Amino acid sequence: MIALEGIGIHSGRRCRVTLHRIDGPVRFRRSGRDIPAAVDAIIDSRRATTLGADGARVGMVEHLLAALAARSLWSGVLIEASSDELPILDGSARAWYDAVADLPEPPAPPEALRPARSLRLTAGEAWAELDPGGAQLCCGIHYDHPAIGEQRWCGGPARYPELVDARTFGLRSEEQALRARGLASGANLENVIVYDEEGPLVPLRAENEPVRHKALDALGDLFLFGRPLEARVSFWRGSHALHAALLRELLQATPEAALRP
Ligand SMILES: [Zn+2]
Repeated sequence: MIALEGIGIHSGRRCRVTLHRIDGPVRFRRSGRDIPAAVDAIIDSRRATTLGADGARVGMVEHLLAALAARSLWSGVLIEASSDELPILDGSARAWYDAVADLPEPPAPPEALRPARSLRLTAGEAWAELDPGGAQLCCGIHYDHPAIGEQRWCGGPARYPELVDARTFGLRSEEQALRARGLASGANLENVIVYDEEGPLVPLRAENEPVRHKALDALGDLFLFGRPLEARVSFWRGSHALHAALLRELLQATPEAALRP
């Protein structure tokens, strides 16, 4: 058993998370109820991905799930949480990535799904695309802020580990609106890169850290598919809602995908 503790970025609540090596699919446990790490369990995609089942819920699951994806740990993990929002930690997936490496006897990854056809979704200026081909994730962002601007990241599974250090970011101009809605109560300079008009208030870990973080979020959400995808997946100005929409579309288009490992 491995334990990590910290505060939720939106709730500001303390959350203790224990990771257990068990048999069967990856799942969360909250208030004694199990919540599968699956597309069907997504109940909220605004600002973070929240899963729910039987009245129990757990939010901000994407960074931990991205760590599991980067480690190719597609099954055999139970994640017990003491509050409804997983801790933000330092805003990246680094601590999760290190913690899950200590789980004993990692199970072999399931066979990847190889979709035969392309899929394309648009939502305003944003779009998602999935094409047959080798496993690759591509993400692009565009922010009006001059210190962020347009950034892209593309890579296959061998490069996913380089995403785990990329931290959550936000604009100071958005902060007040979030706080007014009761969100971001746990946000501080230790867990989010804040951009004011001049630029980031803390040194970046990589020049394109914002898009790397977006790719990390996408990797975590795509984990909910339950098995690796042997496909080229691209998001332009992606969001948790767009990731979820692509997954739902893919599940419909590939009935064989329902055969969860
Ligand atoms: Zn994130």
